[in-house]
Amino acid sequence: NEITIQTSTNQYDVMIGKGLRHQILDFSPKLYSQVLIITDSNVEPLYLADVIEAVKDAYPVSYSVVPAGEGSKSIQMYYDLMTDAIETGLDRKSLIIALGGGMIGDLAGFVAATFMRGIDFIQVPTTILAHDSSVGGKVAINHPEGKNLIGNFYPPVAVIYDVETLHTLSDREVRSGYAEVVKHSLIHSSSFWDQINQIELTESLNEEALTDVLLKGIKVKAEVVEQDERESNIRQFLNFGHTLGHALESELGYGTITHGEAIAIGMLFAIRVSEKTYQIELPYQEVYKWFLKNDYPLQLPNLSIDKLIDRMRRDKKSNNQIVTMVLLKNIGEPTIEKLDEQKLHVWLKDFIQELN
Ligand code: NAD
Ligand code: ZN
Repeated sequence: NEITIQTSTNQYDVMIGKGLRHQILDFSPKLYSQVLIITDSNVEPLYLADVIEAVKDAYPVSYSVVPAGEGSKSIQMYYDLMTDAIETGLDRKSLIIALGGGMIGDLAGFVAATFMRGIDFIQVPTTILAHDSSVGGKVAINHPEGKNLIGNFYPPVAVIYDVETLHTLSDREVRSGYAEVVKHSLIHSSSFWDQINQIELTESLNEEALTDVLLKGIKVKAEVVEQDERESNIRQFLNFGHTLGHALESELGYGTITHGEAIAIGMLFAIRVSEKTYQIELPYQEVYKWFLKNDYPLQLPNLSIDKLIDRMRRDKKSNNQIVTMVLLKNIGEPTIEKLDEQKLHVWLKDFIQELN
């Protein structure tokens, strides 16, 4: 269960399996002077001791714990972590281990990217969403003016993904992360989607099935990211469901709806818009039923369609103020389309009515 990610400048392995947190150094590509583990307050009591145990015989190890939650992807927390790194005597030959979900990966990765102009870091993802965020090399913190405004492309030297850690996630976090797996399946192939369609999230997460779909999801992301280096814009396919999804998140308020819940609705809308735009039939009902049976909240409060479209227009993927969405010509055939706003208005209104 290993994937090698190849970019023009870097290569790193993604390892996925049971209990890998106990064997981190087996997958570490080099020797280091010392290790700093960065984690959050929810993950600390669960897995920090295991990771310390796995590295302490080989290296001096220290750790920093930040409060759980998106609020920690801040300039203040970044500054505090830099101070920790300096005070514990990290040098250019040291390693940072990012132990946690996407928040920790982004934050610790940005610390690694900038500490002494960049030191090695290993991602140890502990959420389902992080199958997405730990691959692709993006690291960032937030500015009060917007998410991920301060960041870089800075790939880890390895990603070590222990599926055992996913058992302690709340149902809501499982759902939220799994929406990205659904996204990867829909932009990839009907066979991948058919596999997802068989899965019941409300049953306890079966480790083998989970390892398999996460591996496939990571492969899809890796393929897209690798191809993007040659053909520009392919990376935009990863934005499937995100144009409306982001608009819903900011319109409803972050925290009200999770990222995954928002993009679940966004993907349904993108499928609807695809059907209308290309005059085709896609398995909308099948995808809808999957989200429904897995308890995704699919109803929306009364929202201004104009405001939503306004936000979609300002999405960073839209050019020249024209709403641009990733659509599907078929399952596994994503396309990028500029959309007529009047039609979009009608479709969005009908769509929200139909959901409710
Ligand atoms: P997160 O890291 O905040 O984790 C969600 C919650 O789960 C937190 O409360 C966390 O403490 C808790 N948690 C983590 N692991 C746990 C475990 N094993 N058991 C119990 N609880 C656990 O959020 P996330 O959903 O993993 O990631 C979201 C972040 O990822 C955002 O900051 C987003 O911007 C970023 N992201 C980055 C990329 C990228 O390409 N770099 C892509 C997508 C998202
Ligand atoms: Zn996303």
